[in-house]
Amino acid sequence: MSNALQFPTRMLMGPGPSDVHPRVLAAMARPTIGHLDPVFVAMMDEIKDLLRFAFQTKNAMTFPVSGPGSVGMEACFANLLEPGDTAIVCANGVFGGRMKENVERCGAAAVMVTDDWGKPVDPNKAEAAIKANPGAKLLAFVHAETSAGVKSDAAALCGLAANAGMMSVVDAVTSLGGISVAVDNWGADAVYSGTQKCLSCPPGLSPVTFSPRAVDTVKTRKTKVQSWFLDLSLVAAYWAGEGARTYHHTAPVNALFALHEALIMLHEEGLENAWARHAAMHQQLAAGLERFGLTLPVAAPDRLPQLNLVSIPEGIDDAKTRRRLLDEFGLEIGGGLGAFAGKAWRIGLMGQSATRRHVLTCVAALADVLQR
Ligand SMILES: *Cc1c(COP(=O)(O)O)cnc(C)c1O
Repeated sequence: MSNALQFPTRMLMGPGPSDVHPRVLAAMARPTIGHLDPVFVAMMDEIKDLLRFAFQTKNAMTFPVSGPGSVGMEACFANLLEPGDTAIVCANGVFGGRMKENVERCGAAAVMVTDDWGKPVDPNKAEAAIKANPGAKLLAFVHAETSAGVKSDAAALCGLAANAGMMSVVDAVTSLGGISVAVDNWGADAVYSGTQKCLSCPPGLSPVTFSPRAVDTVKTRKTKVQSWFLDLSLVAAYWAGEGARTYHHTAPVNALFALHEALIMLHEEGLENAWARHAAMHQQLAAGLERFGLTLPVAAPDRLPQLNLVSIPEGIDDAKTRRRLLDEFGLEIGGGLGAFAGKAWRIGLMGQSATRRHVLTCVAALADVLQR
């Protein structure tokens, strides 16, 4: 079969993947080296240090799991939960629902704390669930709910869990690099992220970090982790061993070249500057869309700068509009999910997609398509 597909260059302004910087793409195109090559091993150490910087943590157990964000989620639950455990899961969108699936597939019971899509997790409800379930092992929630464009109060929720002697599991897939993910200040125990959102890397890796307490929990399990691939004690020998790295699986070498470069770029910019850029681009996008009479359904204090929900005006065809943006402008925005399906678009300003060029192109293109 000949290669007849015309591969386009897009402007990626959906819920991820986001635009990848040419520096990251160039890093990815380096000649592949062995995954136990001394240069590769030195890069693994740098990636761990850079991830500790991004997560604002001193956790020794910080590394990228091979696989997308969903694999990081699965790694957290599979390692921390054993059959018969109880986990409190806060859900205000798609990904809280996925956490429940993970908990149950570990043989544990999920106590759900639900909030409406478009609203943050209510810490009062979480506190009530903690009081009602004192034997629960952990509290899990999504910091930046990509399906609803909403930020929850991670410091408050992790604090509630810690006060009750429970661990906290935090989904930071969309938050890392876009807003502050302060793992140590929050006292979070297991946090996972992804590369293709605000880190602006191709998809396929899931940075995770585990507190010493979470690592102890894994070490003192009564049963084996049911997933061989995700068993932290085995992967750790590959990622953590000082000079004693043993083969576990073949790390995706070129994907790690990309992550290394993307993290160096984040370090060069500085975390605070990256957060400020996302916040400023969000303000400009919101102002631009509102000038054309469009509205953002999420209350301003709860909005994620990197993922903007925009109400679809009455009488406008959702799918057709997105298709025209793609065909005529090479611009990808996201459709709504769940409660927002057909009702809102999701406009991402993640990582390299959080620039004035993206904001102005998006506002102008959307206005053009809607006016015609
Ligand atoms: C994208 C996303 C995930 C899943 O990540 P994948 O890389 O698609 O597996 C999990 N949680 C949140 C909040 C996300 O936005």
